[in-house]
Amino acid sequence: MTTSAQLFEQACRHIPGGVNSPVRAFKGLERPPVFIERAQGAYLFDVEGQRYIDYVGSWGPMITGHADPEVLGAVRERLDNGLSFGTPTAIETTMADLICEIIPSIELVRMVNSGTEATMSAIRLSRGYTGRDKIVKFEGNYHGHSDSLLVKAGSGALTHGEPSSPGVPAALAEHTVTLPYNDMEAVEECFAKIGDEIACIIVEPVAGNMNCIPPVPGFLEGLRRVCNEYGSVLIFDEVMTGFRVALGGAQSLYGVMPDLTCLGKIVGGGMPVGAFGGKREIMSQISPLGPVYQAGTLAGNPLAMAAGIALLSKIREPGFHQALAQRVETLCSGLQERADAAGVAMITQRVGGMFGVFFTAQSQVENFAQATACDADVFRRFFSAMLDQGVYLAPSAYEAGFMSSAHTPEDIQMTLDGAKAAFATLRE
Ligand code: PLP
Repeated sequence: MTTSAQLFEQACRHIPGGVNSPVRAFKGLERPPVFIERAQGAYLFDVEGQRYIDYVGSWGPMITGHADPEVLGAVRERLDNGLSFGTPTAIETTMADLICEIIPSIELVRMVNSGTEATMSAIRLSRGYTGRDKIVKFEGNYHGHSDSLLVKAGSGALTHGEPSSPGVPAALAEHTVTLPYNDMEAVEECFAKIGDEIACIIVEPVAGNMNCIPPVPGFLEGLRRVCNEYGSVLIFDEVMTGFRVALGGAQSLYGVMPDLTCLGKIVGGGMPVGAFGGKREIMSQISPLGPVYQAGTLAGNPLAMAAGIALLSKIREPGFHQALAQRVETLCSGLQERADAAGVAMITQRVGGMFGVFFTAQSQVENFAQATACDADVFRRFFSAMLDQGVYLAPSAYEAGFMSSAHTPEDIQMTLDGAKAAFATLRE
């Protein structure tokens, strides 16, 4: 038994499923999760000292690689001042100014402790601002685990959202409409029927929780148009895409401005941070300025702000995102070449610093139905073979991959060599 397997057994004694977030459990992969001891640059090192080239990056934040000396240095510098004061601190203003400078659609911003809190608060704010209850989201998008968002399409999709988890009241789920991603016709139809009851649309502007699915041309623009027409709030959930697909997020890449933006992951440099912000008129409804309540004991934590500011400052360097996207391109085209040579039906999709690998004969994947039609068993075997080759991919066919600026051409070449060997095992 490996040390990781032993640790997993021990973890299961007092932690539900042995993990503090479900996807870490490697469920369905027929092997125990790898326990990581430390990480540096592009690499994870497990408890047995085995090194892995990492394409998960703590699920997104580690865009300059693990244990970035500038990020760690910024945290170290503040450490002896104390961990938290529960008072305003100047560093929170620095962070707010930085976010508003990088993302011009954000005029006011509130820091929170996770992506879940950011989207939950943005939804409440939209409801409070519009005085409406219904929200629209998209199949296969993930916005964290607040009750209004753990809802799937019911049989009468427009009126009967159903809880996707026990514990979510049906009476609340009713207010969430779930539509197919990239389907503007479905959105138009929905708004034609109940548009004046809809508080907001929340969308991942590049979907990263059903692998990596870019918006089709016109989709984000269409969402903007219907929100304008019906007075609904457009929320871009850029928890994953923010600072990753481009410095200014997907909204800068596609040129569509949301009313509110949710942030997480990179904004905290690896510390537990989220943020939501947007138009001054809407954000002014948040307490203590306005009546919509929202708060957090540790929100704007100075160490977390220090980590986030250090990371954001670093990735503002001109050319950073271009170079990152180039690395993703090299990886994806290399994977495609090797899959084709091995006769494995696979395609890749990518936007900036994120990418997805789909085991399918389809030429592109645009929505949840197509993503779930991909071969999950081939993914499972590929993931496992890559792990054995020292490459750590997301342990689920429905998660995007993340590149960092610490991945060298040699790391990418080693990954491609590993993939060649892994593809060969898929035919066995
Ligand atoms: N929104 C998106 C797009 C995400 O990918 C995630 C998490 O992966 C969240 C929200 C929730 O963030 P957190 O896990 O920090 O609560």
